[in-house]
Order: sequence, then C-alpha cells, then structure tokens
Amino acid sequence: MSQESITRLPPLPASMGLACYKCYKEEGVKVSKCTGCRRVAYCSPGPLVPLPSLQLDWKQHKLMCKALSSVEKEPLAASALLFALPDEATSDLNVLHKITEAHGSTVLSFCVRSLGRRETIPERNLIGWEPRCMGCTRTDQLIRMEAAKKGTQSTSTSEDVPGPHLTPCPRCDLSFCCSPAHWELAQSLHHSPCPDGHDGLTHCDMNREIRADIKFEQVMASAESGAPGGEFLWMPERIKKEWMSSAVGVPKERPMGPWVRAASESLTMPMTILYALEQLNEGDAWTKKHTLTVHVLGADTKEIKGGVVFEEILHRLPQVKTIKIVLCGPEMPGNSRVPRIVQMETCADCTAQGRKRVQELVSDTYHGYIQAQGTKFEAPDLAIAFNSGASQESTDAWRPTFKVLVERKIPSAFTAFNREEAEPEAALLEQAGATLHPGLGPSKNPWGCIKVVPEPNRVYGFYARNGWLAGGFR
Ligand SMILES: [Zn+2]
Ligand SMILES: [Zn+2]
Ligand SMILES: [Zn+2]
Ligand SMILES: [Zn+2]
Ligand SMILES: [Zn+2]
Repeated sequence: MSQESITRLPPLPASMGLACYKCYKEEGVKVSKCTGCRRVAYCSPGPLVPLPSLQLDWKQHKLMCKALSSVEKEPLAASALLFALPDEATSDLNVLHKITEAHGSTVLSFCVRSLGRRETIPERNLIGWEPRCMGCTRTDQLIRMEAAKKGTQSTSTSEDVPGPHLTPCPRCDLSFCCSPAHWELAQSLHHSPCPDGHDGLTHCDMNREIRADIKFEQVMASAESGAPGGEFLWMPERIKKEWMSSAVGVPKERPMGPWVRAASESLTMPMTILYALEQLNEGDAWTKKHTLTVHVLGADTKEIKGGVVFEEILHRLPQVKTIKIVLCGPEMPGNSRVPRIVQMETCADCTAQGRKRVQELVSDTYHGYIQAQGTKFEAPDLAIAFNSGASQESTDAWRPTFKVLVERKIPSAFTAFNREEAEPEAALLEQAGATLHPGLGPSKNPWGCIKVVPEPNRVYGFYARNGWLAGGFR
C-alpha cells in the first residue's frame, strides 16, 4: 500500500491552481499563484489561515516548482511545445485530444528529468489537470512562452498584470478559454449534452456537479464525524440513521445530488455485480442459492475499504443466506498468498435473520490463486475485475488470468474507467477466446459511479469508477 493511497490527494481545484495547494481552501481566502512556477496557488494568511500556506508547503513543493518552471526556461522544451501548437482553434475532439495528450507527456518527461525521479500521483495530476483553452489547448504557461518568443513578455510576475491568459467559464468555473473568439467556438460543445454525462447533462453541467461533489467532500472531511480523507463510505445502516440529518453545505438546487453521487462511488460495486449476474444467468435460480460467491480480481485496499457495501447484495436477494466475497489481487495488503477468511459484521436486520457476509483476502494474481488452490478451487458465481486497467500498462499481467477464466468457463465481467480503456480490453478478452455477452459491453455501465472526474490531459471528457463495462462472458 503506497502512502499516496492513504493520505488525501490534493482535490481537483487545488491541482488546477484554483484553490490553495496546501489547505485546499478556495472560498473566503485570497489565493495567488506561486511566483516560481505560476502553476499552483496558495492562500495568504488571514483570519481563516494563521500561517502562510506557501511557507508550510515549500519543502514539498520546491522540487516540482523548479521542474514546472524548467519547462518554461529550457529552450529545447519551449520549442518542442510551441511547435506542436495548432495555428487555429478547433472543435474536433480527436484533434484536441491528440494535441493535449502529446503536450501532457512532453511536459511530464521534462519534469521527470528535472525531478530526477518518477513523478508522484499529485505531481502527475498537476500536469494532467493544468487548465487549457477548450478551443486551442493553450495553457497559461504556453501563452507566456509564446509571448516570450515574440518578445512581448511582461516583466512583472504578478498575475494581476493584464495580458492574454485563460478565463474560466462563468457558469462552471472549471473549463477555460484563452480568448473571446475561442470561447465563441467552444461554447456550443461545452453546452451540448455530454457523451460521458448522464440524464443529458452538458459538459458545463457535469463540471458544476464536480464542483458540488468537491464541496461535499470538504464538508465530509471537516465534519467531526467526517470520513477520513473526505471519502464518503456508504454503509447500509447509515441510510436510515444519518443520511438525512447532516445535510450541511449541500447546494440547494439538487439537495440529494452529491449524497447520491458520493454513495454511487462504492455502491457501483455491488450494483455492477448484480447486473452482471442478471445478464450472465438465465432464469432466477442464482437468486435463490444458499451461498452466493463472488471473486473480485485485481482487488486492493479500495475494495477492502468499501467492503461493507457488498452487503447490499444480500439486501437485494432476500433468499440468499450467505454472500462470500473473495478479494484477490497482487496488491492486496498482507502479503499472504494463503487465503485469510474473515467473518464480517452485518446490519441488525441481516444479523437477526442469521444472514452472513464472509470475506476472503488473497494477495495473489487470480491465475496464481487458482493454481495454488489446486483441486480445492471452486468456481464462483461471478468473477469480476473493477477498472482492471488490463488494456493499459498491466496487459501482460492479466493475460494468464483471462486465459484461465475462459478455459474454465468461469462467469466473468470486466469494467473500465472509460470507453478508451473498455474497447481495447474487450478486444483482449476476445483474443483470449471469450465470446462476449452482448449485455456486458463494451458499453456504458448503467451502474457505473455517477461521480465523475475530468480526464487528465484533455479539454473534454470525464471518467468514473466502473464507468464502462468492458466485457462479460461465461
Ligand atoms: Zn492555504
Ligand atoms: Zn511553484
Ligand atoms: Zn485558445
Ligand atoms: Zn461551463
Ligand atoms: Zn444487512
């Protein structure tokens, strides 16, 4: 388990340079850009913040500050980045994506060279979520670099100095344009229904939801009973006791919105499991089994932390007595390839009815687990991998698992963060010999998390936990 997965990552506005990078405050404080990199912002000392945030964070920020400004100062970096810029603004998503992707990876490689080590997740987020013009992809840094090349650079480092720079959309404050002309061009796309959205929401609406979600997370993090790290963990019992009573700081227009979206972050797991079982089984015999077994492949701390939501499967299937969840993955903490069986607590209703939730933890790949179990291995009702990333960097690690799932005809389902990961993952499953079930992708997951995150290195698009079904078979 890496340190980064337990401590709270800087939220989106801080990574974008809109909120203070140290205390994450945005409202009620004056934030100004770090004069070194002009990328991250810090708040000034005031009634809310007794100590200067920049000073407190400087030890942390120093190296990345130097790395980010080196991109601007190195002539080689400057010419490489400026050369790739389009002459004209466009609303062609493919063109925009190609430019932003290339720009992001160039900046990252220059930063890594300056850092002298691999970037951390917050550092990668700083590059991925750097604000860009929706029409031409320019960042504030690129605008400054162009001005410097033309010799029109302002000598002042203050951001209050007038000059061309990105301006946020007044409605969502999360998407940007570098000029009125580019805003003119980008507006129609920004305000039309978004392909990654739900209920016909536009890119701008989705941004507003993200804003509301971040506010909600902050309330959760600062509330006395708040979840550590501001992560909202839905628990079956809490729905009655706490959901309605502590609605603080939630925007009025959609009062339940952030709660439901936050709940969907972990509820997506049991709901996707139920959906996959429904698709892969004919009839309802599976809903009447004494024990229902689900193997979660590539599981890590996220699945352990959200483990309590698996009880929701029992609540939806009144005839099942025991739900057995095997969490199996090489990154499972504990470092034990021998399964550890844990009897989990259940809610008062389930306990009264003698219903059980059993969890088994295995630190191993799934094909490793099957091999180690030998003749003791029992095929589950469903094997599922959440956001496996199999089409990304870990393809080779997944191949033997795909093979064993297909060979043993184990009912399986795979999810992905977005279409770009889901489609190649489906192809990989087919290459392994799977005949994909038409109801299980590649397509948008009706039970994907509805709390979305802007795609890094993009000017449009969002991803979500289990946002897409990559494929399912049996
Ligand atoms: Zn601060
Ligand atoms: Zn800096
Ligand atoms: Zn522009
Ligand atoms: Zn907007
Ligand atoms: Zn229960």
